Amino acid sequence: MASVAKYSNRTCTRCGIKKPANRIYSKTVEKSYTGKSRRSINVMTWIGGVLGNKGAGRAIQQYLWQSSNRKYGGSTTKQINLCSKCFHIAPSHNRPGILKFLIFWFYYGPKFLLTSPVVRELVIYIFGIFVWLLIKLLKFLGFLGIKILDQDGDGDLDKKDLEIAYQRVASFFSRFKKKKNKKTSEDT
Ligand SMILES: [Zn+2]
Repeated sequence: MASVAKYSNRTCTRCGIKKPANRIYSKTVEKSYTGKSRRSINVMTWIGGVLGNKGAGRAIQQYLWQSSNRKYGGSTTKQINLCSKCFHIAPSHNRPGILKFLIFWFYYGPKFLLTSPVVRELVIYIFGIFVWLLIKLLKFLGFLGIKILDQDGDGDLDKKDLEIAYQRVASFFSRFKKKKNKKTSEDT
């Protein structure tokens, strides 16, 4: 409630959904990317590759090893706006091939986790729940704390309460000690 910051709405290039600007992420893609068609390999490509089709073979090789921008220049890219759902579907201009990703997972893995809007929104969501639970817990403990510590019954927590509580605890333990050691040291 404290932060109802107003963000202007932006549109996801791929699915057309409108979301606040802080939930729309920009991504660099090939300039030819329209949001609807995407260059990818399918079962037929694999069959073609196995049967020795050169084009299919090249496509598979690229899929496995190369960044998709190999044959385009670095200049033929553009920035588009995507929602978190579409972000990973739209191919990045420098997305690594599958094998490259698997071999260099220790680089691409953390990079993915740190830049992924899906992960980001998930973490924020989980963190929100965590903070909510923590506040509930603190309130509950505070409630218990007042019940325990409001010793003089003035409905308020102050130094006096703590002193009284401390004395009670101290006397409880000294009583316990007395019973055990059969020593008499009634004090204060
Ligand atoms: Zn979208």
